[in-house]
Amino acid sequence: MASIRTIAIANQKGGVGKTTTAVNLAASLAAAGRRVLLIDLDPQGNATMGVGIAKNELERTGCDLLMGEAGFAECVRRLDAPAPGFDLLPSNGDMTAAEVGLMQSEQRERALAEVLAGVADAYEVVLIDCPPSLNMLTVNALVAADGVLIPIQCEYYALEGLSALLDTVEQIRSNRNPGLRIEGILRTMHDPRNNLANQVSTQLVSHFTDEVYRTIIPRNVRLAEAPSHGLPALLYDRGSRGSVAYQALASEVLRRRERTPSAA
Ligand code: ADP
Ligand code: MG
Repeated sequence: MASIRTIAIANQKGGVGKTTTAVNLAASLAAAGRRVLLIDLDPQGNATMGVGIAKNELERTGCDLLMGEAGFAECVRRLDAPAPGFDLLPSNGDMTAAEVGLMQSEQRERALAEVLAGVADAYEVVLIDCPPSLNMLTVNALVAADGVLIPIQCEYYALEGLSALLDTVEQIRSNRNPGLRIEGILRTMHDPRNNLANQVSTQLVSHFTDEVYRTIIPRNVRLAEAPSHGLPALLYDRGSRGSVAYQALASEVLRRRERTPSAA
């Protein structure tokens, strides 16, 4: 029986490529034949829009599920492209209510983990797109996950805030979720002509060694255009450098997982 892999894509900085990574890694894994659930936990609903679901026309979102007001089957959306078995748990502004509601609930840190326990058989991979903050929604993602993937834009302030994120991961590992580990650090929006980007990239590798993915996501306009068409890059321009990089990342994620299976 395939055990479910749950990866939270987190960094409290905005604009580092979390959503782009969530959407394109999910689509690439689905295209590789995996049954994938993409969870949008950000009230901005960018991942939802990025796979072509109109966030303002949703009857149900992950908020209803986290608040216990609807079941999984009512909230999930089947995408079926690039392959069947690619599903989305959508989000929109309502998700802010979940953040507030969770604060008042006893199960506040485990709500998402409980939901996922009920659907473990349906998916091989779950990817969670986190909001740009270390709030209760992100804590729920980290409690539910067995790995955290950290996208980092190689720029001057890139490493600022990283220690706060790593401290949070460590706290959750020791108090709530002993199975949580760093899935990998991903260099995003990389421009090899930029000396500073190269320096930060080298610094990351020397500090985090094997935790840094070999795959580097280049700065590529196709990746920025694709969401306005409601498509992952794979369906918008499959051969573009950005799309090819995310397909390579999907292979790397799968290879790493085969080498070091999770405790689950
Ligand atoms: P986050 O979810 O961390 O806030 P996004 O994934 O939304 O970050 O990315 C921020 C912006 O940068 C978006 O407009 C997105 O389209 C763009 N972007 C992300 N990755 C790339 C890339 N590799 N090349 C070009 N633009 C990118
Ligand atoms: Mg985002």
